[in-house]
Amino acid sequence: MPALDTVLNGRIEALHKAHRQRRLHAVTPLGQARVEKDGRTLISFSGNDYFGLSQHAGVRAAAIEAIERYGAGAGASRLVCGNGPLYGELEAALAEEKRTQGTCVLGSGYLANLAAIATLAGPGDLILSDRLSHASLLDAARLSGARFTRFRHNDMADLRRLLAKRAQYRYCLIVTESVFSMDGDCAPLPEIAALAAEHDSWLVCDDAHGLGIVEPDALPCPVIHIGTLSKGLGAYGGYIAGSATLMAYLHTAARPLIYSTALPPPVLAAALAALRILQGDAALRERPLALARLFARKAGLKEPQSPIVPVILGDAARTLEAAAALEEAGYLVAAIRPPTVPEGTSRLRFSFSALHGEGEVEALSLALKKIIGRPPLHKPA
Ligand SMILES: *Cc1c(COP(=O)(O)O)cnc(C)c1O
Repeated sequence: MPALDTVLNGRIEALHKAHRQRRLHAVTPLGQARVEKDGRTLISFSGNDYFGLSQHAGVRAAAIEAIERYGAGAGASRLVCGNGPLYGELEAALAEEKRTQGTCVLGSGYLANLAAIATLAGPGDLILSDRLSHASLLDAARLSGARFTRFRHNDMADLRRLLAKRAQYRYCLIVTESVFSMDGDCAPLPEIAALAAEHDSWLVCDDAHGLGIVEPDALPCPVIHIGTLSKGLGAYGGYIAGSATLMAYLHTAARPLIYSTALPPPVLAAALAALRILQGDAALRERPLALARLFARKAGLKEPQSPIVPVILGDAARTLEAAAALEEAGYLVAAIRPPTVPEGTSRLRFSFSALHGEGEVEALSLALKKIIGRPPLHKPA
């Protein structure tokens, strides 16, 4: 047998040749959507901190106060003795925001997806998921042991076709996202919910990028909402939202809740302070999407539905080159490649924050046009 490092070096080399190798780079946040990377200050258009709340003075102060009162860590899982006083307050505020009976906060959005899907579905069940769903939803579906099939992105006819086999299974979960993380478009939730109701299925909606951005619809079927505290709220952690009964069941059955330590008090306090700020500031909620629309208009792209604007270049090498050229011009923009997105749809992913200035956004659109010329607008399959 070859040595471990020999095997791994071979794998890394193959990824490198396919322009798929990933590397960690140190990036220091400087505030105002700026970061320092390799000794240079860049304006970041690649984060998910849509409202700039990770940097907000009130959010920082809340986190510091929580450390002073409760300490730096929770010390145990929530079911043992880690269920500190901030959990109740945060879960109540999240339930108010999501308009659900309850919420359950977990270690991350990734863990919330594992908890929701792998706790509710099992062998003998069917999971139908949008083809562009996040990797954590895919991993959760695999972990559940249920039969797992993907429908074409936002394609209701395809979903209906797959639901024809629904009767062969015990329970059926339909899985989608309110705002798709790499495409920035929205799922037709009322239509999906109608199909779920018609075919005796439950709807799982991952709202990681939707909190504060898209208003929740009232839907005609049981919905299991999943979200994160790590994006719009600028903190860390995840949650599941739904009925009080769903919460009671998760408390007794969700392995990522039971077998993992509770979140640190400052993280909970930061998420709670951020949510309160967001709930009290309608102008703040609107700003990231308004900036994304300004950018799209100036760059000649179609009107975005969220603060996430993809520019699909197709080829991984070309995408890396374009991201490097933008970095040279002073902008940090993510180059997204397979397997995060389907083969042949590598892209620049621009994301907008309330902290960006209009002038910065216009300058970015000019820099982009200079680097790639007229953007190709082909849609992913
Ligand atoms: C980021 C993301 C997650 C994971 O959330 P974390 O809190 O970062 O673990 C889950 N689903 C979607 C759609 C995401 O974009």
